Amino acid sequence: MSLVGQPVRVPYEISPESVKRISWLRRRLLSWFTPNGRSFPWREPGRTPYEVIVAEMLLQRTTAAGVARAYSGFVERYPSWASLEQAPQEDLENALRPLGLWRQKSLALQQLALSIEGRGGVVPRTRTELERLPGIGPYTASAVLAIVYGRAEPLLDVNMARLLVRFLGSSEGAEASPKRTLHALALRLVRGKRCLVVNWAALDFGALVCRARRPLCPECPLRARCQYARARQLQPTSSAGVL
Ligand code: SF4
Repeated sequence: MSLVGQPVRVPYEISPESVKRISWLRRRLLSWFTPNGRSFPWREPGRTPYEVIVAEMLLQRTTAAGVARAYSGFVERYPSWASLEQAPQEDLENALRPLGLWRQKSLALQQLALSIEGRGGVVPRTRTELERLPGIGPYTASAVLAIVYGRAEPLLDVNMARLLVRFLGSSEGAEASPKRTLHALALRLVRGKRCLVVNWAALDFGALVCRARRPLCPECPLRARCQYARARQLQPTSSAGVL
């Protein structure tokens, strides 16, 4: 899964109007997710840090559907950092072949396994330490913190970024750094109860409805308040906009 840059920790003040709109967006996404969200094996409760990190590394630069087909078999065959570290490289590459980039992924996974085994098999609990591990970038660190440790961290990938930019428009934070603004908006979206479900909902909504090409605006439950749809002069139906 591609990243949208390094999370920036400098506070950014979101306008009161955007705070209201993000609250509305959050409620709508949660309502949409229950019947429409995607189900993946790595989203099942009780996943270990190992399973979460492996899923995120497999998801890099490939499709979630492809990883969904390969994931369970992969973690059954390699159930621990030790098994990954000790795996013959050719076997590991063959297991990763259906996902593409198998050499890079195999190398990255074994380097990471070696590093974590060197720490006694313990995955760190802080962003700083996580990002010191080989192959762990800001997005994967956020995933571990949010999924494993229950922190309010946004999983700000291209899908969530596109949804926020289109829905809120470009005026929010126009004078600030785009990365800083996006991270602050995403953090606002996910903070509070059900942080992880809001994350899944935003990712799935961006992938399935607010798609990069040909977004499904005419049937979108967000269109009544979406700046992008407004700019394209799409008219809401009578049921749209109901809180
Ligand atoms: S109305 Fe269109 S652009 Fe706006 S959130 Fe929905 S799909 Fe995305």
